[in-house]
Amino acid sequence: MVTPKLSTARRNVFAARLLAWYAQNKRDLPWRRDAHDPYRVWISETLLQQTQVATVIPYYERFLARFPNVRALASARLDDVLKIWEGAGYYARARNLHRAAKEIVARFDGKIPSTVEELRTLPGIGRYTAGAVASIAFGRDAPVLDGNVSRVLCRYFKVEGEPKSAVTERTLWELAGTLLPRGRAGDFNQALMELGATVCTPRNPQCAACPITRACLARRLNLQDKLPTKRAKRKLPHHQVAVGVIWKGKHILIAKRFARDLLGGLWEFPGGHCEKNETLAHCVARETREELGIAIAVGEEFAVVDHGYSHFKITLHAFHCRWISGRPRAVGCAAWKWIAPRDLGRYAFPAANRKIIAQLQ
Ligand code: SF4
Repeated sequence: MVTPKLSTARRNVFAARLLAWYAQNKRDLPWRRDAHDPYRVWISETLLQQTQVATVIPYYERFLARFPNVRALASARLDDVLKIWEGAGYYARARNLHRAAKEIVARFDGKIPSTVEELRTLPGIGRYTAGAVASIAFGRDAPVLDGNVSRVLCRYFKVEGEPKSAVTERTLWELAGTLLPRGRAGDFNQALMELGATVCTPRNPQCAACPITRACLARRLNLQDKLPTKRAKRKLPHHQVAVGVIWKGKHILIAKRFARDLLGGLWEFPGGHCEKNETLAHCVARETREELGIAIAVGEEFAVVDHGYSHFKITLHAFHCRWISGRPRAVGCAAWKWIAPRDLGRYAFPAANRKIIAQLQ
């Protein structure tokens, strides 16, 4: 698609209307109270990826209370960072924040860099987060493009094509950059995101209350429901997973996932994916042997939990098990521990394991 040509006058009107609307209508959000603190912008923008504002607020406040600045985050244990993040999902974000904080201390003397180019050298910081931090905290003329901005631009300019496709995404980045009023990028970017979050919503956009309604092509052609173009729905694979709560006297065994894996660094009950034609009980015993090198007796199934991830779904079956022989070894996991059930709350577990813990307790 060819990027729409925009006259200076049209760009100015677009920016002026949007900025005036934002000044009147922006929500009072905790990270906006000190919007020029790059650490706060970075943490909030990282949390806001893939997560709703209402969910983010308590996580943001807990995170800031526990790790108030880059140095505090850099010197924290990863286990503690993951514990604060527990339940927010997409744990790579937390691991990358921790790694990036260490790099900021080592390479930038503890000061978050201000340019998009330098920010993008840090783990977990892509074009969007770099643009957000550079523009909001440092006033740099850098655009942003997230789901909310994409939706507004696709509708306003009638950009057809799936927003995540390479061609359409390039067009949208160009538009976001062209529209940017020099010297006002921070407010402008936030205004565009705010419009997408509160007015130009995925369903039932409030066109009558929209500051850019007059020249919006989707509104004029009644295409709001058709734009942005939706990706064809894929059927997600569904796996059966069996895990054991393995008892040895009054203690139970937990294992830590490898950092490189999905949900890396989190603790879990030993187990794994069932193979074809394998019983659930056999799966728990086999996985425990392969992961930790111990023999167990598998007892009753006490919990069944369904859980969805971005690319697949699982049904998790939990069994009470009894340790029989062997000292655990971290063969297929990063670490292991025998712990008292009352201490389960001290460790970060994925959401599906937390549901099992709730039933266990
Ligand atoms: S007029 Fe409607 S569709 Fe167009 S940008 Fe505004 S809210 Fe979105």
